[in-house]
Amino acid sequence: MKIIIADPSGFCFGVSRAIELAEQAAREHGAVQTLGKIIHNSDEVGRLEQQGVHYRLDASELDESPVIIRSHGETKRVVEGLKQTLPVVIDATCPFVHKLHHEVEKYSADHRVILLGNKDHPEIIGAVGWSRQDVSVVSDLSELMALDLNDEPTVLLAQTTLREDFFAEAEAYLKSRVSQLVVENTICSATKNRQQAAVELAKQVDAMIVLGGKESSNTKKLVELCQMYNSETFSFENSTEINVEEFKKYDIIGISAGASTPRWIIDSVVETLERKAGVTKHMDNSLMKNLMEQSSFIVPKKNEVLKGKVVMVKDDAVVVNIGYKADGILPANEISNPENKPLEELFPIDEEIEVLVLKREDAEGEVLLSSKRLRSRKDWEVLEEKFNNQETITVKVTEVVKGGLSAFYNDIRAFIPASHVDTGFVRDLSQFVGQEIEVGFLDFDRRKNQIVLTRKEVLEKDLAGELAEFWEDIEIGQVVTGTVRRFTNYGAFVELGPTDGLLHVSEIQWGKVNKPSDVLKVNQELDFKVIDFNRDENKISLSRKQLVPDPWAVIDDNYHVGERYDGKVVSLTDFGAFIELEPGLEGLIHVSQISEDRVEVPGDVLNVGEEVVVKILDIDKDERRIKLSMKEL
Ligand code: SF4
Repeated sequence: MKIIIADPSGFCFGVSRAIELAEQAAREHGAVQTLGKIIHNSDEVGRLEQQGVHYRLDASELDESPVIIRSHGETKRVVEGLKQTLPVVIDATCPFVHKLHHEVEKYSADHRVILLGNKDHPEIIGAVGWSRQDVSVVSDLSELMALDLNDEPTVLLAQTTLREDFFAEAEAYLKSRVSQLVVENTICSATKNRQQAAVELAKQVDAMIVLGGKESSNTKKLVELCQMYNSETFSFENSTEINVEEFKKYDIIGISAGASTPRWIIDSVVETLERKAGVTKHMDNSLMKNLMEQSSFIVPKKNEVLKGKVVMVKDDAVVVNIGYKADGILPANEISNPENKPLEELFPIDEEIEVLVLKREDAEGEVLLSSKRLRSRKDWEVLEEKFNNQETITVKVTEVVKGGLSAFYNDIRAFIPASHVDTGFVRDLSQFVGQEIEVGFLDFDRRKNQIVLTRKEVLEKDLAGELAEFWEDIEIGQVVTGTVRRFTNYGAFVELGPTDGLLHVSEIQWGKVNKPSDVLKVNQELDFKVIDFNRDENKISLSRKQLVPDPWAVIDDNYHVGERYDGKVVSLTDFGAFIELEPGLEGLIHVSQISEDRVEVPGDVLNVGEEVVVKILDIDKDERRIKLSMKEL
């Protein structure tokens, strides 16, 4: 006896992918749950239970553990509901089924939707749930013919596991009845390939065994097709159902298996037949790559940029559906993540992202991706353009290195020579570490990965611009705000933005000032009046004093003969004491006016700096003299 296994047969990639996602999630989270059986194969469902993948009959049984949306997919409402209520939802919907959902949702906006398939199958229930209007689900030609067809825009879609011949018949019928018909063949290539391989094999063998779950729709269709070409077709779920004695009469037995039948079940059937029925040889090329299946997907090429959808986020990688038979893996070290954020925060499930293909099919059969290198590639392009246009960029300084600073533009490293960090010499470069600074380019060589930057030139350019604007705006009499920066014997220098002005000691206030630091403080921010400037010599003269009137000019308003005022002793002579009533306004108390008692010299009873109360005896505005008395208070 000889056994031939159809190629392909057994797990399709959609089911493999869903099971891998579930197993990975169970390993990571301890236990996960699926809404309904993940596949229509109770043996495999039982095996997965042991791995921590538990199935729930309906949503009311769900607990807080991560939920896997199985490859059949769910209605839009269920998907959204799960995402709102459970912390972790892993969407393992097969990309072919996703495509069906997409077509249903898109066309149902303005087309009648006719969907060929079994209305009770979970895939069809899920797909109908993406429609914006009622969907006509028909399972055979008679149901299709019974539809009340108007000549309205109509789309024809199919369950992914539908028989091709039924789809072709339905298409021909509808084309004769509906002029505005759109046909989208949503049957998946895995189904087509299994059906073709099973039919070809059924024609050549004495008997066909079709392995698969009793509820599996694609298994049922394989059985139907094989029976059309070989009346000796039998369907089993696993090896325990096979009565080997009945197969001893056949010379050649073919085996096919539905898309939800795991490899280990096929192997155990072969092994049972080999052991009990004396099989001499079995041919198995079902593990060969199925080029037909691949051809319905994009085939990622190295260095290609693709769009994909995040399907799962692990601690060290993001799983991305890139529309290929295998998922793409975006490892953490290929993600730009300078702030070291958790990957779930950076990659929400279902988000569409752009990735660069590094390698197709690594040892685990996955496609290795990078988002960091893609970003870096784009960043180099941006930098090159900025360099060519002589524009500035903002970089983050990361460390002091030999001869300057190291800085990053996203993930691209650049160098800033110490002499180009500032307009002057910088003693301590470490003050810039951690800062974001604006810089221009000194050198750019993409081939050598070399970028040299200058902050100095940017500052100088900015300063020149600010200075020009400053001189444009300045006027005599203008009041400006400045910061006192340093003192000299003759005044104080005040920073006015791009340049400094001089406040002469005589312009600090009305009245005498011995030294500027008696009245002003360094870093004090004050208003000043511009009293003179010379742009060519870069000189500006400022005054604080002229911000207020000369006290002698308004003395009549503020001081009256015979009234008492507070004052301060500012100097003493033999003939009297000088009293400051306010800065710039002093009067004299003659020694005879200090007290009722005889005073030899004022210093006997008064001290410089002492606060006193005085009475004004006389005001002479012409001579700028005020006579005061303490005796006549
Ligand atoms: S049979 Fe096709 S549609 Fe269904 S899971 Fe497999 S690959 Fe996807």
